[in-house]
Amino acid sequence: MDAFCYLFSNMDQPSIIIGGGCAGMQLIRQLLKNPQDQKGEILLIEKEKSIPGKSWCFWANKPSEYDFLVSKRWQKIAFHSERIHLAENIQPYAYHYISSEDFFDFHYELIRKSPRVKIVNEQVEAIQQTNGLFTVKTDRNDYHTNRVFNSITDFSNTPANTILLWQHFYGWFIQTERPVFDQETATLMDFSIEQGPGANFMYVLPFSANTALVEFTAFSSAESYSENHYIRQLEAYIKNRWNTNYEIERTESGKIPMSNFPFSLFNDAGAINIGAAAGAIKPTTGYAFKRIMKDTQELNHLLFDQKDRKAISSDRFKFYDQLLLQIIQHQPERVREIMTKLFSKNDWISVLKFLDEDSSLFEEISIFSSLPKRLFLKQVYQYVFNR
Ligand SMILES: Cc1cc2nc3c(=O)[nH]c(=O)nc-3n(C[C@H](O)[C@H](O)[C@H](O)COP(=O)(O)OP(=O)(O)OC[C@H]3O[C@@H](n4cnc5c(N)ncnc54)[C@H](O)[C@@H]3O)c2cc1C
Repeated sequence: MDAFCYLFSNMDQPSIIIGGGCAGMQLIRQLLKNPQDQKGEILLIEKEKSIPGKSWCFWANKPSEYDFLVSKRWQKIAFHSERIHLAENIQPYAYHYISSEDFFDFHYELIRKSPRVKIVNEQVEAIQQTNGLFTVKTDRNDYHTNRVFNSITDFSNTPANTILLWQHFYGWFIQTERPVFDQETATLMDFSIEQGPGANFMYVLPFSANTALVEFTAFSSAESYSENHYIRQLEAYIKNRWNTNYEIERTESGKIPMSNFPFSLFNDAGAINIGAAAGAIKPTTGYAFKRIMKDTQELNHLLFDQKDRKAISSDRFKFYDQLLLQIIQHQPERVREIMTKLFSKNDWISVLKFLDEDSSLFEEISIFSSLPKRLFLKQVYQYVFNR
């Protein structure tokens, strides 16, 4: 069958966005707001008809573009380990929660109201470019334009020495019989649980005294554990920590790559990468939402300003991430100790800034001096001599 060739009715700055996930949607919103282009057509190509729900959280100390979608904020966060139980007020920061259902409802409504955006549910199979004109080939059609944004992450040409690990998680939204949760405090990491084969912790987001998301999370070389393993861990944790009857309202699971892969701002054909494909996922934490917000705003601004777009992470922070990735890969049993030192020996505002890649060199030296020094020096040695 001949591929249908889609032509934009208005060839003034038409854009194709591949992938209607977190980055694709944020970019559409930005493009529709851009005062310098109120005409350009946008074609969104998304392979899935419906995208599984997820919880997007991030800490922030200033208002963000998506404040109106934040359905819960915690001013206090907690960290637990074998013998350490810490909770701190993180003001002026707060930990924000956005449900992906609210996020997608908002963006689909925006798209529905805009005559400029069209969505097709097709699978992109290739992106080619000749003399600045892109051809996007899907399972059904060929599309041509001169501006393509791509959110497909492609790990196929992985250089030697690439570390590819996974953050995988499985959690339950539960309703408890008794009011057991402190709804003012989100638990970022509870390392008091059994470790191995990777580094494992629980993540608890209490929405009320009776409802919470309790999520088992692992950093490991394996992409997942068996469903039974997650369930056993969750059951044991809920029993030990709250000892109450509960009902499971819904399950959330997923996996996020943790990699030193050299993500590029452009794909092989020269399309503009966005989101995870551009390196928006912080390799050692899995957080991406806020990084995508910043990057898509900048990208939209730069479209008409011809300045260079900056890489999402600087080389300095890529190097720090590299060291921790090496540890997770070869000595995951040391991660609990590292995280315990990070949270027990530093003030948490500095830690949040550091994880946001917003800290000064002085703050970073202070943080690294609180961590197991020999272990990190060994990683530096391995990095320098094994490259
Ligand atoms: C369950 C889960 C929870 C997370 N929680 C947080 C969090 O709390 N905080 C945080 O900051 N980050 C979180 N993240 C990480 C990060 O925010 C997400 O991975 C984010 O979705 C990345 O955005 P993206 O647009 O690059 O990729 P995606 O959102 O995955 O979007 C890519 C889209 O491209 C589509 N696609 C892929 N291939 C094709 C193709 N060939 N043709 C057409 N379409 C295609 C996919 O269907 C998808 O819709 C979470 C990730 C997961 C998986």
